[in-house]
Amino acid sequence: MTAIKYIPEIHEVISSGRVLDVLVVDDSKALRSAIREILELGNIHVTEACNGETALQLIDRNLPDLVLLDVAMPEMDGITVLKTLRKSYSKLQLPIVLVASRGSSTEIVQALDFGANDYISKPLDFDVLWARLSNQLMQKQATEYLRSAQAGLEKQIKQRTVELKITNEKLQKEIDVRLLAENQLKRQANYDELTGLPNRSLATDRLYQTLVKAKRHKLQPCVAFLDLDNFKYVNDTFGHAAGDELLKETARRLSQCVRESDTVARLGGDEFLLIIESDNTENGQSSEMVVHHVGERIIESFSKAFTVEGTDLNITPSLGFAIYPKDGKDCNTLMRHADTAMYRSKHDGKNKYCFYSQDMTVNAKMRMDVELELRHALERNEFSVIYQPIVDSKTRRIVKAEALLRWNSNNLGMIAPEYFIPIAEDTGLIVPIGKWVIKTACRQVKKWREQRSHDISVTVNVSARQFHSNSNIVETIRNSLKDNALSPDAIQLELTEGVLMKQTESTVETMKLLEKMGIKMLIDDFGKGYASLSYLQRYNFDSIKIDRTYINNLLLSEQDTKLVKAVIAMARSLGMSVVSEGVENKGQLDFLMKENCEFIQGYYFSKPVEADEFINLLKKINAA
Ligand code: C2E
Ligand code: CA
Ligand code: CA
Repeated sequence: MTAIKYIPEIHEVISSGRVLDVLVVDDSKALRSAIREILELGNIHVTEACNGETALQLIDRNLPDLVLLDVAMPEMDGITVLKTLRKSYSKLQLPIVLVASRGSSTEIVQALDFGANDYISKPLDFDVLWARLSNQLMQKQATEYLRSAQAGLEKQIKQRTVELKITNEKLQKEIDVRLLAENQLKRQANYDELTGLPNRSLATDRLYQTLVKAKRHKLQPCVAFLDLDNFKYVNDTFGHAAGDELLKETARRLSQCVRESDTVARLGGDEFLLIIESDNTENGQSSEMVVHHVGERIIESFSKAFTVEGTDLNITPSLGFAIYPKDGKDCNTLMRHADTAMYRSKHDGKNKYCFYSQDMTVNAKMRMDVELELRHALERNEFSVIYQPIVDSKTRRIVKAEALLRWNSNNLGMIAPEYFIPIAEDTGLIVPIGKWVIKTACRQVKKWREQRSHDISVTVNVSARQFHSNSNIVETIRNSLKDNALSPDAIQLELTEGVLMKQTESTVETMKLLEKMGIKMLIDDFGKGYASLSYLQRYNFDSIKIDRTYINNLLLSEQDTKLVKAVIAMARSLGMSVVSEGVENKGQLDFLMKENCEFIQGYYFSKPVEADEFINLLKKINAA
């Protein structure tokens, strides 16, 4: 704090502040009056005392700002008054200026010793008087000001210290809150809320870092994509809370299958990504071997049922691996290729892992081309339906025809149904396509009934997607029957277990409606799927179609032979008939006849044929 800073303020106090008080002590009235006149010109209030005694009394009552004190006075001289005052007031508290006779230097020295602030000699020079007094007054004011300023400052500082402390505490709290929020944001930005695993963004980041390290140290880390095979079914059947439980358990199991240094991330939905570091090639294992082990471990860890809402569910994963650098040198390529390999696992029957290979990319591109063309296939009239006879094993007559869809794409040529139907299912295109099949088949069976066999019926394959409420399969069938004036026995539906697996409220509802309409339903591909028996009891199926892989193995595999026998016996006990598909030779036919299998379908009688050709078969076989 420098004085300079206060100078303007001192002036301010002096010029505009309170009126200053000066006590003039002198035994000469004339001199007192002369001094009063001068000082009052400077706006100073003057009190007079004619002797020391009076002066002390006045000061006692009211402390002036300055005392102008004559040294030579009768009774009590100025020095005595000075000494008395200095016992009570410091030089700063009460400035005292002595008026001494010129030349008496001892008096002056004495006066200064006893605490006079200054002195003026007689006879008075009023300019000097004014200068000395104003000087003293200014000093006093400045001191006062400084003191009060300092006290104020101290008070302020104290107050500010308290304030600062409070502000500090507030700030600290604010900082804490912000840090917390920031951490939360960071977590949200980087971690999946449900499973606590890294999310796509953090996983990509980690993969990038892994690749940088791999490049430097010549490592071969692996990216794995994992997708749950029947997640949608769980979600649809048991609800989202159950789905969430399943995902959390999946996260736990996956984390146990890899090492701490590896990454398990959730990309969204039921898709997970793993980064498998390959530093353990040091114990002689190739990167591929390490990944094989991880794959086995993961498949194994899923073999234990998941308990969701008290129900044990068998959930399987499909995995795809892509290894750096041979399957890709950057994050995007590796992730894309791992995804492609995962799709291969799915198409190869799920619950398995596949390593990426280059031909998969070709396949992926092919799939995309097919999808693109499939979107226009209906409007371009590229579909057709062919029919395969189903023969009554007792009468040897054709009683039914399975409608089988064919696609001859203008741009891609003939595409096998096993290839394009799963794509149509994935994209939802199966709904309009399936509708078209039903209409076409009904029109066809009407023609046959008119032309030849009035009791022939057609069986149509339907996918799970077509059973969703908004696909209106019931409406389609009702209208198709009505338009062709057909009875409900003209059409039967072949349902795979997939439809039942994905059963939802609407599936059950649809099945009930169809049953009420008198539409018969059959379980297709029996034996190929999962827990088939439970479905048999739950729904009113008219018949079972034994999958052709079992018929293929008839008489070749003892186990499959036994199984076919058992299925036929079981169906009979449940009041259902049996269709055997894929019957290619007489040995198979004889066996099935002996077991009393009601219906036979297969190349032994005929391959699927065009509708016109089918008429010829009817003529030939049914006439015989
Ligand atoms: P699926 O329902 O199992 O149909 C029977 C398949 O077995 C047909 O193949 C048929 O040509 C074949 N097949 C019949 N007899 C024999 C035989 O003796 N030996 C051998 N090796 N095979 C025989 P396709 O026509 O290629 O159909 C394949 C699958 O495509 C069908 O399998 C069915 O799942 C699906 N599919 C066909 N048309 C439709 C349709 O309109 N809608 C739906 N959702 N799926 C369809
Ligand atoms: Ca079928
Ligand atoms: Ca089949």
